[in-house]
Amino acid sequence: MKVRQINCPYCNIPMKYRGTEKIQLGKSNIIFEHLEHWLSGALTVSIYECPSCNKLEFFKYKKNKG
Ligand SMILES: [Zn+2]
Repeated sequence: MKVRQINCPYCNIPMKYRGTEKIQLGKSNIIFEHLEHWLSGALTVSIYECPSCNKLEFFKYKKNKG
């Protein structure tokens, strides 16, 4: 997969790629609460972190669909 260049919207500096994380829906419902209707089970996301303000940015990890 590609690592994209993401700039922090607050600091306007490149965010650091932190890899992918599997999030269990229902436990980490802070961010994904409103997405529950189209997701089920666990969700794999790519995580970016701003080295300055520690803002986290999540992107849904796309699996290869046949
Ligand atoms: Zn920042």
